[in-house]
Amino acid sequence: MADLIEEIIAHARREDRVYLLEHECKAILKHIGVPTTNCLVAESEEEAVSMGEATGYPVVLKILSPEVIHKSDAGGVKLNLGRGEVRGAYNELVATFKDRHVVGVSVQEMAKPGREVIVGATQDATFGPVLMFGLGGVFVEALKDVSFRVIPVTEHDAQEMMEEIKGYQLLLGHRGQSANVASLRDILLKISDLVTAYPAIKEVDLNPVFAYPEGSLVVDARMILAPPQSPPTLGGRFDAVPQTDLTAVFEPRSVAVIGASATPGKAGFNILDNLLRLGYEGEVYPVNPKAGEILGLKAYPAVDQIPHPVDTAIIATPARVVVEVMKGCARKGVEAVIIISSGFSEESEEGRRLEEEVVAIAREAGIRVVGPNTTGVFNAENNFTSSFVPVDEVTSGNVAFVAQTGLFLGVLFEHILSSQHFGVSKVAGLGNKADVDDADILEYLAGDAQTKVIAVYIEGLGDGRRFLKVAKEIAREKPVVVFKSGATEAGAEAALSHTASLAGRAEVFEAACKQAGISRVHSFEEMLDVVKAFAFLPPSPPTLGGTGGGNRVAVIHYTGAGCVIAADACQKEGLELAEFSPATVEALREITPAWHRIRNPVDLWAAIERVWVEKTYGVAIEAALRDEAVDALVVSFFAMPGWETYTPDFDLLRAAGKPVLFCVEGNEELVGEAVARIEGQGFPVYSQVNRAIFALSNLSKYALLPRVSPL
Ligand code: ADP
Ligand code: MG
Repeated sequence: MADLIEEIIAHARREDRVYLLEHECKAILKHIGVPTTNCLVAESEEEAVSMGEATGYPVVLKILSPEVIHKSDAGGVKLNLGRGEVRGAYNELVATFKDRHVVGVSVQEMAKPGREVIVGATQDATFGPVLMFGLGGVFVEALKDVSFRVIPVTEHDAQEMMEEIKGYQLLLGHRGQSANVASLRDILLKISDLVTAYPAIKEVDLNPVFAYPEGSLVVDARMILAPPQSPPTLGGRFDAVPQTDLTAVFEPRSVAVIGASATPGKAGFNILDNLLRLGYEGEVYPVNPKAGEILGLKAYPAVDQIPHPVDTAIIATPARVVVEVMKGCARKGVEAVIIISSGFSEESEEGRRLEEEVVAIAREAGIRVVGPNTTGVFNAENNFTSSFVPVDEVTSGNVAFVAQTGLFLGVLFEHILSSQHFGVSKVAGLGNKADVDDADILEYLAGDAQTKVIAVYIEGLGDGRRFLKVAKEIAREKPVVVFKSGATEAGAEAALSHTASLAGRAEVFEAACKQAGISRVHSFEEMLDVVKAFAFLPPSPPTLGGTGGGNRVAVIHYTGAGCVIAADACQKEGLELAEFSPATVEALREITPAWHRIRNPVDLWAAIERVWVEKTYGVAIEAALRDEAVDALVVSFFAMPGWETYTPDFDLLRAAGKPVLFCVEGNEELVGEAVARIEGQGFPVYSQVNRAIFALSNLSKYALLPRVSPL
């Protein structure tokens, strides 16, 4: 038996329609087990009457026409019709739409009122098919209270989608009406499966779905087909990517610097200079048509004239000669190139063509390409770099940075190195991403023992689905922190369905991050705050999530204002303030004056006045760490001239095994010293308590990630 869904699609194709009529959509829904109203098609007044009888009153009549997409706006829906009203309604509909291509009039049961929700699917330019859920009816347009996930979704995703909308409480039950959440989750999963199995179905709008306490019922459905011969949404272009790994990009045993220069300040000089000064462990071969000697190294006129093996080439020549250079690299058997040169797709149409030519040569020869238009990579393990920005000493550590912008490895890298105490493992600036993209780097970093945390700065993604898939796998092992700019961009295409018109790129990206378990941040500052917490603390401390199942925080502060700010931040970030045990309250009682009310966040000032800093913090920290109701601790103290600066008992902190984050405020120089002291011992320090709490909330969300959920 031919597949019913294929048949319906083929029928629409034969009639040159991209729009499936309501009765066709409902037949599809019925086929996949989604409950809908019946939907008979009457082609005459008599048929309408007998179908009304067969259905049972009251009934609904709706116009069926490929030219009438929004039926009720056009007067094409007649609700709540009794036995005597069907004839009149039929004739009225036919008369109103006499100039349209009317296929018939649908006759369906009048569903009893329920909560109206919308379930939809559409296409995102980056991630392909996405699923939407929201409150239906008037709420869809007015409130835009909807949530998204990239298809396919898991049961967990579907549940989160519902919980995410502001109107979720309305679904759970309000004034006697409540929705059967399990039946809605089932519809979400079935629509996810439907568009996965039938890529020809480009958009779906089930609007409204009536949700009742005992189940759900689709009362209106629309589906839009992709244009007949359109290529598969995503993926095609990328199938050709050679799956050689990136070892040569980060760990070359020998490197040619093509476009090497003896003139200080030029890129071709600085790259060599960086390699030599940083102490890169492999062989370095300058390439320059004038040959001779550069920085004490013998130079060669062309890469294929180097009489030794060359793993990797750094290309810093003008764009117009890069194609020739690539051919040389191919002849030489180079495994990877890092193209520093600009003047490619970022600049002009001609540049785009050049870039395509470069990639074609690379594919043919099995060469991986980083860039063009970038500073490239840095590896703290072997001190290999392709950067032309002078790099001094680097603190080697466990954080990898991946960025689109080449300047990341320049200016921002310098900022990180000079301001942060965590060290760096790898850096990759991807530039135009002609070949190697974010997902490739993530895959490499997944297997990199030195890297514990991955920070990614993204402007745009080519193949969003692949990124999502790779990120999802890796995020279970190592935290991935993403800062994406350009997030305000709205969905560009004008759309036939509600779903498509509501699916902005920013919302979809946000949803994709949740699905992948990515920590999403919205500024460079937030990125460093979160990265720091992951770099210093165990990414999934047993107290967060794990067995305790908790995100209960104790906050210790030296001022009431700080306590209020902290409480606000906890609420905003979804952390709970721990309810102290009697023992903790008792311990705090000993150091505070009798009039002082003890609660969490703890305002320590009154105690500090009585017994001073050392004792106050010592007692408070020890009590909080010992308290079983406390999963994590945030401690804020001051660094002031003339006052003693508190130094924590690090052994005590380590022994407790709970995440402890600090905040130090006051004199800049003294704060700097305190930060160095504390971070030197492996505990993150923040400049404000709310920033510490934001970082902690990311740690807690990471700890609570479902660890088994395939994509
Ligand atoms: P359109 O979205 O094309 O304007 P609908 O079929 O959604 O048309 O009808 C408009 C409204 O009429 C729906 O939002 C719903 O409230 C109501 N409605 C439609 N069909 C039924 C039905 N079978 N039973 C009860 N109410 C219905
Ligand atoms: Mg509708």
